[in-house]
Amino acid sequence: MRPKAVVETIRALWIAGDSPAADRIANLLCPARGAGAACPDHFDLTQARSLDEALELLDSHRAIDVVLFDFELAGPAESAALVRLQTAAGTAPVIVLGDEDDDPQAPAAMRQGAQDWLPKTELTAPALARAIRHAMIRKQIEMDLRRQFVRQRRARSRSQRQTAELRARVERLDAENRELDDFVHVVSHDLKEPLRGIHAYCELFADDYRHHMDAAGVDRLRAIMAICARLEKQIGDLSTYYRVGRVKTTAVRVDLNAVVDGQVASLRTMIDRSGGAVRVKGPLPTVQGHPVLLGMVFGNLISNGLKYNRAHRPVVEIGAMAGQPAIIYVRDNGIGIAPEHHEAVFDLFRRLHGRKEYEGTGAGLTIVRKIITGYGGRIWLESEPGHGSTFFFTLPPAANEPLHPPHWARNRNPGRERSPSAPLCP
Ligand code: ADP
Repeated sequence: MRPKAVVETIRALWIAGDSPAADRIANLLCPARGAGAACPDHFDLTQARSLDEALELLDSHRAIDVVLFDFELAGPAESAALVRLQTAAGTAPVIVLGDEDDDPQAPAAMRQGAQDWLPKTELTAPALARAIRHAMIRKQIEMDLRRQFVRQRRARSRSQRQTAELRARVERLDAENRELDDFVHVVSHDLKEPLRGIHAYCELFADDYRHHMDAAGVDRLRAIMAICARLEKQIGDLSTYYRVGRVKTTAVRVDLNAVVDGQVASLRTMIDRSGGAVRVKGPLPTVQGHPVLLGMVFGNLISNGLKYNRAHRPVVEIGAMAGQPAIIYVRDNGIGIAPEHHEAVFDLFRRLHGRKEYEGTGAGLTIVRKIITGYGGRIWLESEPGHGSTFFFTLPPAANEPLHPPHWARNRNPGRERSPSAPLCP
């Protein structure tokens, strides 16, 4: 926006009594004034003979661009006069005209907000016109700064209010979470205890009364014990599912090779009993996470690959595909999953098979997905009934991991085979 001071007629209010000196100043801006003509050269001059007359004029919303104030009219309470004038002038700058350039009152007047102090005696028309224009520009800048300051203060107090609201919400949420933690802890312990009691009494009953029961009675007791065990496992899975999302420790660099080695060692009995093998194809990446949670991911996927498997020799293969982030896969040669169930298998307690066919609670994949998505990763699968299943997932790479290409893509070593088996993957 072009400043008004440069382009349009400037409406000046000259506050001065009747004196030759005052007339001289008026004539500097408006030389033709005496002849009753309008002011030439960009100025429109109005004269007020007293401070009160000037204030009345300004209060009546008369449009004024600059106020020129002869300090002789200020009277003994000059600073009060200046403050009143400033307030009434609003956005128009107030220029004070005094006797001398180095008048001792000049600094005080400037501190009261006057835009300039000009010596009446030495003024020339061009100097006065220039001083007026500059004062208007300065005032405009001052007003802009003031508006900016007010906007910033409002924004600051708004953001302080929002921060306080957020803090209160976080505190409420923390309290609710603590309550929920206690609830889950109590529920899981308090529910498991009576279940174990029922289980133990059933065992005692079966022992003490085995000679008084027929085979059907023993079967029913066994069924009760199995239900107790299943319920206890389900409660355990539920509380694991809840706790997985509540891990508070910071994620660290985790070498997935070590994680898989640990899981294979833990599942050794299951692997041997199945007569199968777990193979790792090429080195796995190092990611950002928690070793225990990532162990649960691989533990679940490996054991499912061996469990849902009717192959003569069950094989689970683990590998990683180049990319950013890396895509890790766990592939089996098991029974496979029909495409319409590819999403449902991740639902809590959702099972595709009866317990008699395959043991389980249906919580494993739900927990796996919660861990992966908790790290901002994704999990999906490719599978056809009778053609095995491949679970793919992504995890955030550890800090300082190379971007392109990942080392496991460059370093194609033959992989570490846990036991000899026919190649499973292309
Ligand atoms: P669980 O194994 O305890 O039943 P999961 O959540 O691990 O629970 O799996 C949910 C269901 O998905 C299983 O009941 C099974 O029907 C199916 N499933 C999971 N993994 C596989 C797999 N590798 N091959 C075939 N079916 C699978």
